[in-house]
Amino acid sequence: MTAMKSYFTGIDLPSNDILTNCMHCGLCLPVCPTFALTGKETSSPRGRIRLIKAVAEGTLDVTDGFINEMNFCLDCQACETACPAGVRYGSLVEAARNQIRMQGRESTAAITLKWIFLRNIVSKKYLLKLTARILGVYQSSGLEALLKRSVVIKKLAPKLAKLQELSPRIDGRFFDDIYPEIIHPSGQPKYRVGFLSGCIMNVAFASVHEDTVKVLLHHDCEVIIPKQQVCCGSLQAHNGDFEIARQLAKKNIDVFLSFELDAIVMNSAGCGALMKEYGQYLRDDPTYAEKAERLAAKVKDISEFLYDIGLKKPVKEFRHTVSYHDACHLVHSQKVSIQPRSLLQSIPGIDYVELNEASWCCGSAGIYNVIRHEDSMNILDRKMSHVKKTGAEYLVANNPGCLTQIEYGCAKENVSMNIVHLATLLRVVYEL
Ligand code: SF4
Ligand code: SF4
Repeated sequence: MTAMKSYFTGIDLPSNDILTNCMHCGLCLPVCPTFALTGKETSSPRGRIRLIKAVAEGTLDVTDGFINEMNFCLDCQACETACPAGVRYGSLVEAARNQIRMQGRESTAAITLKWIFLRNIVSKKYLLKLTARILGVYQSSGLEALLKRSVVIKKLAPKLAKLQELSPRIDGRFFDDIYPEIIHPSGQPKYRVGFLSGCIMNVAFASVHEDTVKVLLHHDCEVIIPKQQVCCGSLQAHNGDFEIARQLAKKNIDVFLSFELDAIVMNSAGCGALMKEYGQYLRDDPTYAEKAERLAAKVKDISEFLYDIGLKKPVKEFRHTVSYHDACHLVHSQKVSIQPRSLLQSIPGIDYVELNEASWCCGSAGIYNVIRHEDSMNILDRKMSHVKKTGAEYLVANNPGCLTQIEYGCAKENVSMNIVHLATLLRVVYEL
């Protein structure tokens, strides 16, 4: 029998080893949010693995149905946590998306968003800042409020009207414009840590960055925020643009490794997950493979880092109910779930309430809530049903996308709850 020609090409093929690891047991199906929405095998991890395998073996073309299933997936990686065979599903779907991009099979809308916004704006700091400035003026000038109320916009462009409600608020001052490259703690430093200011967080979550820096300084860290650093490449890699992700990774490797650091502390789950995988993305690069592994070994989420060094005891009790939502790229990609819970439970006075289905995706998933808005909102509804039941005053999540998405869910459902990053809560606890 003649072997069929694979519809995948180039060096970034979905790994055959990973594809053949799947034993089709189906244990991943109950944890998959898209399978829960449709009940269809093709929208499940096992079904998608079969689809990818069929394209790899040349028995299925890269059809519209195939592309739709690859984009319907949240890349939340809950299936990886559930899988007894250790199938690294995330790298399969990301490689399949990379193939779709290379073959020019994206829709015009997806090309515009992914390849203009992610490739040419998010990954270029000066262009991102310029775009953010324009968006900031639009948000603060009253024009946004006017358009939000506009019945015409709601009728003519309902999707656009909904999307602008989900876009993050642009900060008046960008984080890397406020802080110097090196910040010293008040006493003798015990640790020297690097900090990623990133892309969207730098312009829209400056306060979370400030909270993180304050908490690190309080824990005797000298904080290095390299001026030459760039976007980590996570949004690009997770959406299948390996080429630009590798370029960004190499730049960050050169920049961060030029400092002697004990750790590189992250406050965004998606960025941390990707930086921990730099070695995987650059494994075939003779110049960067070893350096990428060396950098990846230093990357730690803020919860991991504080758990390892020991959280300082706050002066006062914090008498509030607090719950915790697991960001997918923290719990499933990085396997970090004990540390944030342990830190929260160790704060005197806190009444910790566990969130049911805490590790079920909230539907944010990078740019998923923009490109698959309806699906994202259906997934958010399930998350909100559990969030409301906690009755907590604070819900903690260590990822900007989750914070925005759950805050949006609270506003939509009239739920009064503080949706905060762990660093923000700690800054309040320590009164910094
Ligand atoms: S749990 Fe793992 S081995 Fe079982 S079907 Fe899912 S991916 Fe395949
Ligand atoms: S990554 Fe998430 S959405 Fe995609 S198949 Fe796995 S569990 Fe389902």
